[in-house]
Amino acid sequence: MALMVGTGRGAQLGILLRGPEVLESTRRVEVIVLDKTGTITTGVMSVRDVVAAQGESANEVLRMAGSLEHGSEHPIARAIADAAAHVPGGLAPISDFTSAQGRGVEGVVTAGERRHVVVAGRAEFLRERGIGLPDEIVATLAEAEAGGATAVTVGWDGLARGVVVVGDTVKPTSAQAISDLRGLGLRPVLLTGDNEIVARRVAAEVGIDEVIAGVLPEGKVEAIRELQQRGRAVAMVGDGVNDAAALAQADLGLAMGTGTDAAIAAADLTLVRGDLRAAGDAIRLSRATLATIKGNLFWAFAYNVAALPSPPPGCSTRCWPGPRWRSPRPSSS
Ligand code: ADP
Ligand code: MG
Repeated sequence: MALMVGTGRGAQLGILLRGPEVLESTRRVEVIVLDKTGTITTGVMSVRDVVAAQGESANEVLRMAGSLEHGSEHPIARAIADAAAHVPGGLAPISDFTSAQGRGVEGVVTAGERRHVVVAGRAEFLRERGIGLPDEIVATLAEAEAGGATAVTVGWDGLARGVVVVGDTVKPTSAQAISDLRGLGLRPVLLTGDNEIVARRVAAEVGIDEVIAGVLPEGKVEAIRELQQRGRAVAMVGDGVNDAAALAQADLGLAMGTGTDAAIAAADLTLVRGDLRAAGDAIRLSRATLATIKGNLFWAFAYNVAALPSPPPGCSTRCWPGPRWRSPRPSSS
């Protein structure tokens, strides 16, 4: 009964539970790990700057990156594709597209007559693909990151051609949500694939001291597992495809309703409105539900013990427990 009421109250608060038993797993949670992009920040990125390497055009860098990113559903990709749609020539057709979770994207862009093998993403991703980064690109990356933005390096046909600088903003409710979670006795940790400088800046803005940055999706799972091995029950809040495995690994996985289907499918509960404050509500609700269940159990046992039938006054054990003893024995005839 309490679980049913708890589930119903959750729905009113915009919290969808995979099953009522989820309410039980939140009781031990001590650490809450939060993804950055789309969880603490709006996840609605916009292009702030496009810097072309020497001899390249910024429009071309944006167009190539945007054509390719059109195939990805990452917030960074959406921002770049949207901006590139307004560049002269618009988005070019792509083929052989692949997306490396938490690293970048690659594929073949057909611009006019020519086909280019384009790679966009983290600097290491380009290096892995055999694209060296000239000093000017490295300097641009450092500058963008120092400014708290995410820099996407773009290269094609074996050369780094420029950098697209993107950024989003912290959700107005995130700082409140974090202090709420602390109030519930939880330790917040920021876990992101983005670079350390951006991560620290966002963490400071919302009041988180512990930051794990620059991790790949596998690294996110590993980070959760490490926290668990230290004997902590861990909750994780995330929204991206790259968070799905970590959400499944956590003792309690919370997905943003505004996030990807993969994250929602992997999580134990979904914060429908994508407002981080609902995470605190979910934990409070489950604690209250458990308290009700324990209270009900107490009364059920107490009542049963108190009401254990005792022999009626003046009756010896001979007439106890009642009529069955007095029934005539079956005759043997
Ligand atoms: P977060 O953990 O903040 O949600 P991700 O793990 O999704 O971030 O991404 C980590 C980093 O990988 C990004 O900051 C970006 O540098 C790079 N990246 C991921 N996806 C893409 C993409 N589609 N295009 C370019 N860069 C990407
Ligand atoms: Mg994310």
